[in-house]
Amino acid sequence: MRRHTFWVGIPRALIVVGAEAALSVPTLRNVISSLWTGRISRDDVRALGRAFSTFGIIFLGTLSLLTSIASADAAKTWIVGATVISPERPDSGRVLQVLIDGDRISAVTPTLPADLAGAVVVHAEGQYLIPGLMDSHVHLTGIPAIPYPMRAQHPDLVEAYLRQVPRSFLRYGYTTVVDLIVTDPRPLQAMREAPAHPDIYDCGGALPVPNGYPTQNAPAEYRFRIFPNTVIDPAHTENFPASEDPTAHAARAAVERILKGGGICVKTFFERGFGRDRNLPVPSADLMKQIVVAAGSAHVPVLLHANSIEAQTFGVDNGISIFAHGMWNWGPYAGSEALPPEVLAILDRIVERSIGYQATLQVIAGLQLLYDPTYLDRPDVRRVIPPALLTWYRSEEAQWYKRDLAQGAPDAAMRERYGATLQRGSRVVKYLAQHHARFLFGTDTPSGPTIGNLPGLNGYLEMQRLVDAGLSLRQLLEAATLRNAKAFGLDDQIGTVQPGKRANLVLLGRSPLESVQGYDSIQGIWVGGRHLLPGDLEADRQ
Ligand SMILES: [Zn+2]
Repeated sequence: MRRHTFWVGIPRALIVVGAEAALSVPTLRNVISSLWTGRISRDDVRALGRAFSTFGIIFLGTLSLLTSIASADAAKTWIVGATVISPERPDSGRVLQVLIDGDRISAVTPTLPADLAGAVVVHAEGQYLIPGLMDSHVHLTGIPAIPYPMRAQHPDLVEAYLRQVPRSFLRYGYTTVVDLIVTDPRPLQAMREAPAHPDIYDCGGALPVPNGYPTQNAPAEYRFRIFPNTVIDPAHTENFPASEDPTAHAARAAVERILKGGGICVKTFFERGFGRDRNLPVPSADLMKQIVVAAGSAHVPVLLHANSIEAQTFGVDNGISIFAHGMWNWGPYAGSEALPPEVLAILDRIVERSIGYQATLQVIAGLQLLYDPTYLDRPDVRRVIPPALLTWYRSEEAQWYKRDLAQGAPDAAMRERYGATLQRGSRVVKYLAQHHARFLFGTDTPSGPTIGNLPGLNGYLEMQRLVDAGLSLRQLLEAATLRNAKAFGLDDQIGTVQPGKRANLVLLGRSPLESVQGYDSIQGIWVGGRHLLPGDLEADRQ
């Protein structure tokens, strides 16, 4: 197997020279939109303004990653002797020979031709070849433990992290990711042009209602600039500011902008708030129906942020395509051991209507990990986080989020609190798995500024959580490959090991249909036909 060197040094001079040039509104959007989930103090928000000049530096630093090294891969590669597991077939794999020609799979055959015509041969006897994995819920520019207001203080750590993100996803076999909220396309574009990266799709800017989640994270005067696809609610026109043009913010206009920008999905929210933010406005049924109709006529799915009984009922009632979270908020039934009848009723409708379901258990488990003192010592953390950042993660300063959430409560109490929430999410998964719901694999990495949601690794942790909760290994494989591809209209390109598909493949040492640990036995990754080795993608190899 040949090895590649992926990254060249970043020209520091270029980074510094460009500092003043990048203070544009889109950058501002990117800065503020990733303030995350309302757990940031007002002082932090004020600090944002002071910090802008350094964001410019960071941003150009990311752009300088465009420097690439041409791949030296041969045009044709035979992967020989692997047991091929492809989700359109019910078997547990067959020994097949797979030919990659350019960026495509061009043949999948029981026998090898006599003349391999100069192709590279990768011997994979005893190993398992699966389609590249797809994580359909990520936030590529969010940094665990470093929200935007803090970025100015740690430009080198920020730069090292963003450079590693696409590599970390690939390291764990994710060859396709979907970013659900993009407020500035440029950092994503830089990742797309980096030497080693997954296929990156997005839902463009999301569709919040005025002052609704997640816009409350931004200072009020910037919200429309950061979220230009904020939609006017026909049932609550009184909430729409007089300074904005209502026709530009009709649901249809917002969806059209997303499609024009290359978006393949529409993301919106039903969230009344949590933590410090309560009683946020939510969309009306009329608005939700407008969004669903506009997206439906363009054949793109509508994803709804919804994690409560009320929110998921709203989503089912109004015809959304995919829930972007599991249901762990049971309201008055929070203490219930079994699934309450009201939860069962809505889960049955989710099954019946075949609504896509991203359970995102790691949203909660990733908060619980903040209170696990051994977490950062795990060797797999070193795979995905650059050494300097890992050192900083151990510092007192980096514990701000842990302290903020705990408010003095001991670690054990916090673990228990999140454990109870996780139990509810897991019971929902178990029921939906037993009733053959349409699971879609999406992690929401990172869902907040927690170090418990690290790129790539978080996907493997989510897989373990799902299987522990009751998802079968076949359901998991389907959710992370063909079902995800179909849900986002990508199944003509990816999702199976079949001729004509894009050559996104993962070679495993163990079968993922025998054990979830199969996903932690990666021997090789192909993205668009390019062969990558897991060790070369790890953070200490940048
Ligand atoms: Zn998310």
